[in-house]
Amino acid sequence: MLYSGDKDARPSIMQASAHGQRITVQDGKLRVPDHPIIPVIVGDGTGPDIMNAALPVLQEAVRKAYHGKRELVWRKVLAGEEAIKQTGQPLPDATLAIIREHLVALKGPLTTPVGTGFRSVNVGLRQALDLYACVRPVYHIPGVPAPVKEPENMDLVIFRENLEDVYAGVEFAAGTPEQAKLRRFLIDELKVKAEKVREDAGIGIKPMSRWESQRLVRKALRYAVAKQRRSVTLVHKGNIMKYTEGAFRDWGYEAAREPEFAGKVLTEQEVADKHGGKAPPGIVVVKDRIADNMFQQLLTKTDEYDVLATPNLHGDLLSDAAAGQIGGLGMAPGGNIGDHMGVFEATHGTAPKYAGKDVINPGSVILSGVMMLEHLGWDEAAKLVRDAVAKTIAGKVVTYDLAREMPGVQPVKCSEFGKAIIGNL
Ligand code: NAP
Repeated sequence: MLYSGDKDARPSIMQASAHGQRITVQDGKLRVPDHPIIPVIVGDGTGPDIMNAALPVLQEAVRKAYHGKRELVWRKVLAGEEAIKQTGQPLPDATLAIIREHLVALKGPLTTPVGTGFRSVNVGLRQALDLYACVRPVYHIPGVPAPVKEPENMDLVIFRENLEDVYAGVEFAAGTPEQAKLRRFLIDELKVKAEKVREDAGIGIKPMSRWESQRLVRKALRYAVAKQRRSVTLVHKGNIMKYTEGAFRDWGYEAAREPEFAGKVLTEQEVADKHGGKAPPGIVVVKDRIADNMFQQLLTKTDEYDVLATPNLHGDLLSDAAAGQIGGLGMAPGGNIGDHMGVFEATHGTAPKYAGKDVINPGSVILSGVMMLEHLGWDEAAKLVRDAVAKTIAGKVVTYDLAREMPGVQPVKCSEFGKAIIGNL
C-alpha cells in the first residue's frame, strides 16, 4: 500500500495491505517477494517528520525502478514513547515478534526512557534480535558542506560489533551491595589491589568474546571481498586492554586465515614480506590500527582506509567522527544487521527541539533506506535514490543544517526536501 506522505497523513495510517508478503530465508539467502512487508518504527521526536519525508521517496524509487511490478508494503510497529503510552513497554514483545517474522525493518530515532525498561531501547532491540553488526557507510555526497579540505577522500564502511564491550550493560553503581560484593571478590579472590578498584567506584565489565568478534570480522571480510574493497582494518586498543581489545585483533586475524578467505585475503605483513608491499589485484588486505591512531589517520590519510571492523565503543565514536568529516549526522546512514535480519535506521537521535516543525534533514533515514534496498537486493531502486539525493543537493535544495553552511542558500522544509528528491528520481 502506498503511504501518501501528505502532511496530515501521519505514519499511523500505515497498514500491511492484503497483498503484502513475508520475506523469508531459503538456502541461507533472503528470498524477497515483489511486495515485501517492511515493519516501520516511526520513532520519537523528529521521527514522524523524517519518516513522512522518507517513505514516499523509497516507495516511488521502487515503483520507478521496477515499473510498478514491485512495491514496499509498510507496516507500522510500536516502539518508544508511543509504545509506552499504548502498552506500558518501550519495546513491546509484539514489535520484536513482527520484526523477527518479517526480517527487514526501517527505524526512526528513539528516546531512551529514563528509569524504565531497557537501559536503551536501541541497544535492547539490537540484543533481542541478535543484530550483531552495526554497519555504517561514510561517504561524501558532492555539494554537502564539510569541515575538511578533501571530504571526497572518505569512502568508508564501518562494521561495529553491536552486542558486547562496555555496552553489554554489566555495570554496578557505586554504593550498592552488588558493587561491594564484586569489589570484595576482585580483591579477596582475584588479588586485585584495593586501590585499583576504589570503594566509591562504579564498576563496569567489558566482555569481548571470540564468537562475537569473529562473526563481526567475518561479515566485514565477506563484504570487502564481495564489493572488491581494498582493505579491512581491525581497530583496537590492544596495547592497553590485552585480553579484550588485543584478543579482538588476534581473533580478527584468525578469522581472516579461515579457508573461506584463502586466496582472497592477505595480511599487511604478508603483503610486505611476499609482495614487496603492493597487494596483488583483487586481494583484500587485512591490517590493524590502534584506536587513537585510527582517529588521526582518518583525518590525515583518509583514502588509505576502506572497511573498518571495530569493537562496539570505538565503532560508535569513530562512525560519528567520520560522519562529521563528510558533513554531519544528518546525512549518515546505518543498519543493524544479523545473519539475515536487518533494521536500518537514522543514525542521529530524536533532535526533540525540532519535533513536528518539518525542518529536520531526512537524509540519514533516506540513505538508510538505500542500504535497506541493497540488503533486499533491489540495487536498481537503491541507485535511483542515491543519485536523486546527490542531484537534489547539487541543485542546492537542502534543509537548514546544510543551508547554514552554504552562503546564500535558503533552506527548504524536511517534506520539501523529500518531494524534491522524488522529483529528481
Ligand atoms: P540528536 O537527537 O542526534 O541531536 C543533536 C543535534 O544534532 C541536533 O540538535 C541537531 O543539531 C543535529 N541533528 C540531529 N539529527 C539531525 C538531522 N536529521 N538533521 C539535521 N541536524 C540533525 O542527539 P541528542 O540530542 O543527544 O539525543 C536526543 C535523543 O535521541 C536522546 O534521547 C538520545 O537517547 C536519542 N538517541 C537515539 C538514537 C537512536 O535512536 N538510534 C541515537 C542517538 C540518540 P543542531 O541543533 O545544531 O541543528
